[in-house]
Amino acid sequence: MKASIQLRKGKEKSLLRKHPWVFSGAVAKQNGSADEGDVIEIIDHEGNFLAKAHCQNGSICARVLTFENKEIDSAFWESAIEQAIVYRTSTNTLNNKNFNDFRLVHGEGDNLPGLIIDSYNGHLVIQPHTKGMEKSIEAITAALQKLLPETKSIYIKQPAQHLDGSLDGWFKKAKEEIVINEYQSQFIIEPEEGQKTGFFIDQRENRKLLADFAQDKEILNLFSYSGGFSLAALNHGAKKVVSVDSSEKAMALLEKNLLLNQIDASKHFSHCKDVFEFCKQDSNTYDIIIVDPPAFAKNHKALKNALQAYARINEQAFKKLRKGGMVFTFSCSQAVSLNDFKQAIFVAASRSNKNVRIAKMLSQGADHPISIYHPEGEYLKGLMLYVD
Ligand code: SAH
Repeated sequence: MKASIQLRKGKEKSLLRKHPWVFSGAVAKQNGSADEGDVIEIIDHEGNFLAKAHCQNGSICARVLTFENKEIDSAFWESAIEQAIVYRTSTNTLNNKNFNDFRLVHGEGDNLPGLIIDSYNGHLVIQPHTKGMEKSIEAITAALQKLLPETKSIYIKQPAQHLDGSLDGWFKKAKEEIVINEYQSQFIIEPEEGQKTGFFIDQRENRKLLADFAQDKEILNLFSYSGGFSLAALNHGAKKVVSVDSSEKAMALLEKNLLLNQIDASKHFSHCKDVFEFCKQDSNTYDIIIVDPPAFAKNHKALKNALQAYARINEQAFKKLRKGGMVFTFSCSQAVSLNDFKQAIFVAASRSNKNVRIAKMLSQGADHPISIYHPEGEYLKGLMLYVD
């Protein structure tokens, strides 16, 4: 008998609305045995087929791969990845002449829950976030090589939280240093040492937006990582940029990126420091400040502390900003809604007693699609603020 998860009566509704997660509370029973990461059928209380999914330990106990009753075989993976390619061709993020870093597969946004694939100038970095995607790596790499025969290398990167080292490494080794071009800035990508897959591609369009305002400005980039926003600004006329990040590896990569872009050393200043410490010590003011912290709230329990941290860091930014300046501020915590985030900015603005206006709402690029049936996929929110 095929292993299946039978839902309690009424609990099929979210799946019928194409939401791709099954919560353990919805389950009546499991028929047959399945290990974590195996493909399992989801059926309603009467035994009718609902979906095929990867099963998983935890409160989300299955993630849907398809709502059709079909095999999860090589044809399935090829078709799913092909659709991801078609989407990116149609939305002009694949083969775009202005950049060659883009997300090829964005988990639930591409109907492949738990699978991230980033493309860096033809080099692919795969990040499986579930046991199911880990177990499917062979089929995924085979599909990629068939559909994208020009692929220069493939690196498999397990996320830090469940890294057991068994998969991590080159599937097809890069023969050259990986360098991408993004709106006239070049960046070195180091999949082994870098955070996430090596770069934060989700901020690409926001770095471009900052570049449009950078001419002759003095800019503070808080949580700079390898200098994404810093180089975008410096390559578009910024007078001076100060980058702050507590990671030594990130700062070392930033130095390499400065050299690669032939940035005049007198225009850039690095501080390998905790941002909160830096803000206490630094008495300078700036025309533009970028605030792009890591996810302060990893889950809903951490929400209150996270909102306080967003308020504190943005208050610091408002205090350091010159009259008529701009703050580009972000939250990449999935647990923080846009309204929560705006509330934190409200607190920061009123504490610093500044007149703050939202000039533009920001999000990720088109290569990070959000399924309308899966609002949880909406994680990156940003505000471009003008402060009188
Ligand atoms: N804006 C970047 C991405 C930032 S990711 C880009 O466009 O590429 C968040 C960064 O915050 C990481 O590099 C991490 O090292 C850094 N970080 C996390 N906590 C920090 C802290 N308390 N002080 C300084 N940097 C911190």
